[in-house]
Amino acid sequence: MKVSVVGVGYVGLVAAACLAEGGNHVVCVDNDQKKIDDLNQGVIPIYEPGLTEIVKKNVEAGRLIFTTDLSEGVAKSLLVFIGVGTPSADDGSADISAVLAVAKDVARCMDGYRIVVTKSTVPVGTHKKVSDIISSYTEHPFDYVSNPEFLKEGSAVDDFLKPDRVIIGTTNPAVMEIMKQLYAPFMRKKSRMIFMDPASAEMAKYAANAMLATRITFMNELSGLCDELGADIEMVRHGIGSDGRIGSSFLFAGLGYGGSCFPKDVRALSFMGDGCGCEMTLAKAVQAANYKQQDRFAERVIEYYKNRPETTLAAWGLAFKARTDDVRESPALRCVNKFIAAGIKVKAYDPEAMETAVADIDGKVEMGENAYDILNGCDGLVIMTDWQEFRSPAFDDIKDKLNKAVIFDGRNLYEPPFVAKQGIEYHSIGRVSVF
Ligand code: NAD
Repeated sequence: MKVSVVGVGYVGLVAAACLAEGGNHVVCVDNDQKKIDDLNQGVIPIYEPGLTEIVKKNVEAGRLIFTTDLSEGVAKSLLVFIGVGTPSADDGSADISAVLAVAKDVARCMDGYRIVVTKSTVPVGTHKKVSDIISSYTEHPFDYVSNPEFLKEGSAVDDFLKPDRVIIGTTNPAVMEIMKQLYAPFMRKKSRMIFMDPASAEMAKYAANAMLATRITFMNELSGLCDELGADIEMVRHGIGSDGRIGSSFLFAGLGYGGSCFPKDVRALSFMGDGCGCEMTLAKAVQAANYKQQDRFAERVIEYYKNRPETTLAAWGLAFKARTDDVRESPALRCVNKFIAAGIKVKAYDPEAMETAVADIDGKVEMGENAYDILNGCDGLVIMTDWQEFRSPAFDDIKDKLNKAVIFDGRNLYEPPFVAKQGIEYHSIGRVSVF
């Protein structure tokens, strides 16, 4: 099929490359000239495992092209995907101005029937706004599909190629058939394609993210109680995760959720509720508790060093989670900024996110080339992202290089008795500290 994808970010670029991998011809459109120039030179603007290879392969096969010219994309496509950002506005609502602007431009470029598909996460009711805009700027017929994206940064290519489910929000049977054909190459035995009306599809995306954020936050709040009462959150996790009704995923206590989706989507859900007189009390509580968890960790570290002037900490991890260079609303950055505000110096290392973190912490933090070099002269190590390479470190080196052998682990990467055996003081989340 002939497809265009407008907005070549984490979602758009992955979706475009994977759709091309499925045999479709895909035109990627973005209004960021530099991004398009880079892509045309083979430079992938984000870190996402497997993405470089799949982009290169499909560009070489002539199935994937990049342009800033929307009319070229629309002219060549039956399906036009919108994958631009929907960040939080100041009031917490989702800012859908980019989606609406693209809808208007797409309509102006249409020269015949098109199917416009929204991949961006958009508030319930956006399907009406987009449809109204398109019909007011073109005479040509069109159909609208809400097709929220569920990929996860860090495993985005795999998630798109082998989805658990694909949600298609349309009530038109002919369009359902086209969407079925488009996704057919990716549907596995366990994958499900679920059809529903556009409003429910829009809501399903917010519901999924808010549910996951709630699970994480519930465990994080329990971890605070475990700290106070001497229980072990890891044992609690095993205890409840083995219950089939609960399940074991998204129960890890840590620094709280971050990234470009959960925080803004939980906020947008709360805003939607306020807007129609149906207050989302749980979503609001989740949001507050998530910040509290990040601040509790930072304050614990600050309290520990309060009588040591001139403290320098080594920080492992800046990305909001492992396997991504994304630092949007990263708990690590929130903590680093709190350390700095408290007068603590920070040296940081992240395998992929140092460049993207520069905008937030440039000049405030000394970045290191590798995890171990930054330890020299530091008074402790703070772990904030669960990168694989931090999971089994050289504890001897950590101990030798630090002024004081102490680790604050915001991701519960190690077994406390094991770290204690290495002669390192170890503080983690919801577990007894060991010395
Ligand atoms: P992003 O910021 O990485 O990418 C957005 C892209 O859109 C940018 O390249 C930007 O230049 C481009 N853009 C903005 N306005 C444009 C315009 N008028 N014309 C052409 N291009 C334009 O965003 P993202 O992380 O890919 O997220 C996109 C959407 O997908 C959001 O609604 C997000 O909530 C949703 N989503 C994201 C993820 C994720 O893991 N990042 C997962 C699922 C859903």
